[in-house]
Amino acid sequence: MKICNLVAPAKINLYLEVLGERVDHYHELIMVLQSIELSDYIKIYFNGTRDFNLYCNNSLVPLNETNIAYRAAQLIVKKFPKFFDSYGGVDIIINKCIPVAAGLAGGSTDGAAVLLALNLLWKLKLNKTELEKLSENLGSDVPFCITGGTAIATGRGETLNPIENLDNLWVVLAKYQNFSISTPWAYQNYKKRFGEYYWKIDSNNRNNNFKSLVNAISHKNDKRIGELLHNDLEKVVLPKHLVINKLKSFISKTGGLGTMMSGSGPTIFTLCESYEKAQDIKNVITQELQDSNLELFISKLSNNGIKIMEN
Ligand code: ATP
Repeated sequence: MKICNLVAPAKINLYLEVLGERVDHYHELIMVLQSIELSDYIKIYFNGTRDFNLYCNNSLVPLNETNIAYRAAQLIVKKFPKFFDSYGGVDIIINKCIPVAAGLAGGSTDGAAVLLALNLLWKLKLNKTELEKLSENLGSDVPFCITGGTAIATGRGETLNPIENLDNLWVVLAKYQNFSISTPWAYQNYKKRFGEYYWKIDSNNRNNNFKSLVNAISHKNDKRIGELLHNDLEKVVLPKHLVINKLKSFISKTGGLGTMMSGSGPTIFTLCESYEKAQDIKNVITQELQDSNLELFISKLSNNGIKIMEN
């Protein structure tokens, strides 16, 4: 095999709770992560040189060593230098469809895709567990992006427990094109505002909503799932960015099961029980807000992480 085509799905956070800061300065989190069908499309092939070249159709995506896809390739080179000597470099072409810096793990999923592709192209024979472990070096969301589906994520997000899938539901996503939020900014501000409460909330109280959500997911109680969506980072992002706050307020009145910001934002999503409902909600948002800067997507929740396509 000389060429690898991959589908790399985005994720949304159905639940994100910050418990405190760890000794390694990452935040300790409890999350429920969910893959959606909205994806980047990635093509990787041998280029006959010792270089790794990156191409992307979105000018917001860096084409240097800060790109997670590039860092993924560098990580594999570092761990498996003999395979690099045998196979050489690759070209990585990213067809970016996931909005950038949107709280949808767009970079993480590209990084996960490159790990899977090089595992295949360089015949490394790493299994999923080994790939997930390796991917922790690239970022907290990358292990989830490999396997995807619906999962509880703890630690800094890298410890995963798959749960009942929710692929019967749909989501409408709304993101202002000219507006992005940096994940480090969101966590730094959360710490400034709430750091004094870290690790202090009684664990029984703390986990009530989380447990109820997991219970609702296991019983496929869509209405309860919508009611129990939660994201602590809204407490710093929404007061600071009133435009996102207003967008969330508007969307939460359009009839979805529940409306929430994904990750560190600024994407707002609303869960829907059917494609028709999602389409109705999208039409209402388009007509009422009439904002050409607001990008809207309809996507199905998905059971899949990175998919390797047949050539
Ligand atoms: P997460 O939800 O994992 O916190 P995000 O969805 O908020 O991430 P990304 O789309 O991953 O954000 O982009 C965050 C930043 O990472 C961008 O501003 C960009 O500079 C950088 N970046 C590096 N590699 C990529 C990539 N492959 N795709 C998109 N952004 C990338």
